[in-house]
Amino acid sequence: MERKVLLHTCCGPCTLYPLRVLRGEGVEPVGFFYNPNIHPYREFRRRMAALREVAEKRDLEVIWHRDYGLREFLREVVFREEDRCEVCYYLRLRETARLARSLGYPAFSTTLLYSPFQKHELLRDMGEELARRFGIAFLYRDFREGYRRGQKEALELGIYRQAYCGCIFSEEERYDKKLRRRRRGSS
Ligand code: SF4
Repeated sequence: MERKVLLHTCCGPCTLYPLRVLRGEGVEPVGFFYNPNIHPYREFRRRMAALREVAEKRDLEVIWHRDYGLREFLREVVFREEDRCEVCYYLRLRETARLARSLGYPAFSTTLLYSPFQKHELLRDMGEELARRFGIAFLYRDFREGYRRGQKEALELGIYRQAYCGCIFSEEERYDKKLRRRRRGSS
């Protein structure tokens, strides 16, 4: 069992349950906020503030990447909008693995494994592939089983819970009913 883990953290609410599980196993994670996919700017700031609140309330150390990654993200996904989630996971997990190795952590993981709305198997496979490449371990857990519990905890703590995944494409899908209907029809 690796006891020191760099935990990529996508936001405050999604951190609560994985943190509880890992601490229950005797693992003390250090959070890493690196999310160039979160747009627009005010939403990015708001999610950072929510994670800061969780970190204070749960005594979690976090390494912050505070730069707003709009341009970096869009350059990576342009002309690949339909496959953007794979690109998005890769950007975030690769940076987490890279940082974990350079700081001497034996393992890394991600709170993205908590969300039932993400492509879970893809995340697991990508994490394992990056682990091989960087020569460290990927700590895989299926945190989705605690989704309701984590959301309840966030609600009780009064932590901001976002309404869409993060990028401007997901924001459009969340609020454009016609687009959602079209997508459902084509799937
Ligand atoms: S929908 Fe979510 S996971 Fe997919 S690209 Fe957008 S922010 Fe990333």
